[in-house]
Amino acid sequence: MRFGTLKGRFVLVADGRALDVAAASGGALPADARAALARWDDVLTWSATADWASAVAVADADLGPPVPDPRQVFAVALNYRPHAAEAGFTAPDAPLVFTKFPSCITGPVTTVTLPPGNVDWEIEVVAVIGAGGYRIPRPAAWAAVAGLTCGQDLSERLTQTQGKPAQFSLGKSFPGFGPTGPVAVTPDSFPDRDDIGFASTLLTGSGDEPLQSGRTGEMIFPIDDLVARLSAICPLLPGDLIFTGTPGGVGNRRTPPRFLRPGETLISRLDGVGELRQTFAG
Ligand code: ZN
Repeated sequence: MRFGTLKGRFVLVADGRALDVAAASGGALPADARAALARWDDVLTWSATADWASAVAVADADLGPPVPDPRQVFAVALNYRPHAAEAGFTAPDAPLVFTKFPSCITGPVTTVTLPPGNVDWEIEVVAVIGAGGYRIPRPAAWAAVAGLTCGQDLSERLTQTQGKPAQFSLGKSFPGFGPTGPVAVTPDSFPDRDDIGFASTLLTGSGDEPLQSGRTGEMIFPIDDLVARLSAICPLLPGDLIFTGTPGGVGNRRTPPRFLRPGETLISRLDGVGELRQTFAG
């Protein structure tokens, strides 16, 4: 099952059509994404027999973020060995966690104004938490994930790395730095929820540049492990997001470094989910 938001309302999406959950359920279920995710079991039960007669045609560009206003956005650094190596670190013993402040979260098709500095790409799989919970044991962790979506952890590297020790969060939270979507997809919809492919490409005036590719099966701390470890400390709330880390191939580890430029468009694809499209302006 695929879900997201359209004009701020929670929808199911199938075959290019969106079904307004609150309207189609006669008000039995909420229109707000976080409120719907808080009642995730009810949504799943209702969806099995939902009447799609009132569904409307929808394009990716019409959709908002699967969760427009998450209260907690966790992000994990160095969760793929090649990226840890290119960044000059050994693989960590425990997840390295920062936040993307929620004001940076957007939908799938956007224009991002580049702030001064060096803005870089990081394609990531993003887990969307359902009803949430505290101290979720790892065997129960996948059941706490309502869906997976595609994300970009856009990062301005000068702000990210200033100071000793550096604090990552602000450099990753400029407006538009957290695109997500186009929909979130329930884990049971993937052939293997623990091994999903993704890739990104940059469209430039002089052709297409492949940037990053990977599979979630290559994570150091897999998604269920992250849910268990994070919820051991912070209660997870309905609609919280977890950016699960990026593989190798970021721009600031290239020789010479390569950062995003005005006029370029970044395409990020997650198998079984769809693609993000960010165009950059100066
Ligand atoms: Zn990242």
